[in-house]
Amino acid sequence: MHPSGAWHHAFGGSLVLDCSTMSELVAIRRPRTGLPRTDETGPNLRGMSPDELAAFVQQTLGGPRYRADQVYEWLHKHRVTSFEAMTNLGKAQRAALGEASTVRGLDVDTVLRSVDGTRKLRLRTSDGHQIESVLIPNDGRGFTLCISSMVGCSLTCQFCATQTLGFQRNLAAWEIVDQVYRAQTLLADDAAADDAQWAPRITNLVLMGMGEPLHNFVQVRRAIDLLTDDRGAGIAGRRITVSTAGLVPAIERFGREGLAEEVGLAVSLNATTDAVRDQVMPINTKWNIETLLATVRALPANRRRRITYEYVLLDGVNDTDADAARLIGLLEGSGAHVNAIPFNPHAGAPYGRPSAQRVSRFVERLRRGGVAVHVRTPRGDDIGAACGQLALDAGSSAQPS
Ligand code: SAH
Repeated sequence: MHPSGAWHHAFGGSLVLDCSTMSELVAIRRPRTGLPRTDETGPNLRGMSPDELAAFVQQTLGGPRYRADQVYEWLHKHRVTSFEAMTNLGKAQRAALGEASTVRGLDVDTVLRSVDGTRKLRLRTSDGHQIESVLIPNDGRGFTLCISSMVGCSLTCQFCATQTLGFQRNLAAWEIVDQVYRAQTLLADDAAADDAQWAPRITNLVLMGMGEPLHNFVQVRRAIDLLTDDRGAGIAGRRITVSTAGLVPAIERFGREGLAEEVGLAVSLNATTDAVRDQVMPINTKWNIETLLATVRALPANRRRRITYEYVLLDGVNDTDADAARLIGLLEGSGAHVNAIPFNPHAGAPYGRPSAQRVSRFVERLRRGGVAVHVRTPRGDDIGAACGQLALDAGSSAQPS
């Protein structure tokens, strides 16, 4: 077996089938559902945990553990995308690692800048797909980064632009973390261009871009472990939010495997009756509102206060007084927050954004009913970067730079 064969299937490589389970084998054989198949040069080291990286470096170079620690720092702290940049390794060592593996990152295709300071990054994967991430300035300091977990999406939520792309494939952990690193590098480059002393920080991370993160559980988990590591991006778990359309078995797993203790969960509810939710989010025909809410309530008690329900307001569809009353009833006693998101229009969906008066009326009713609610103002909608507009071709009035 190729010395690095064991790493291929785990980290997105394709050549050596060293799969331990049938399902992984299937995932590799079906490119539409699997991970990238392009690492001709072996696994991507950026997706490995510190221990896995140590084992790989030891196997490839031999020698002490600190060598692996050096490589880890280059990848996750300095965000380099080539072995040549790892200047504290010898030439022969860099060559040996390059023979057996890769550290390439995502290519930045385009950066779109909104008048409100939001920036959309269009990134290209090594197998030619495009994905998007959105940098949103916080009200205070720093930025929130919204990242993608898939190319396209496996779900068919009718109001969402991403669903028009269909499901192409999951992102590998290294592609998820590299979205953060490319955004950090952009902020650093912008700061340098402005002669600023410090680049602003990415303080918050939301997995609300393209894709259903809980459908890509293993790679998302792996990425979160890397991104919360102080030796890399060091983003606190409490500042990371995973958003789900309501994949019940995966929410259970999220609780069972301790992820619910580490990061926040946002659940896209988006309707108050099964009849409407079946229409707008067909996943509801599999796990309906009652099942979904019961699953969320069953998460460890100390975590429930961190649950947010997202509610996209669709004009005339789910924004009536009766909806507000039902929503109060559904969430009664849960202590959960509601994030109301006025629909962001795009060509792929037959819905409209409710008027500002309708939005306030809905929100006021919730508040009077004792529900904590926050209205998410659209950010970056002039560059097609607002919630649900990520579809790669969203019309833009802003100039790429
Ligand atoms: N699949 C995950 C994460 C991606 S969608 C999920 O469903 O939660 C992130 C959020 O954007 C969800 O709450 C979704 O309901 C919302 N959204 C999708 N399309 C939207 C649109 N056009 N306008 C406003 N919000 C939208």
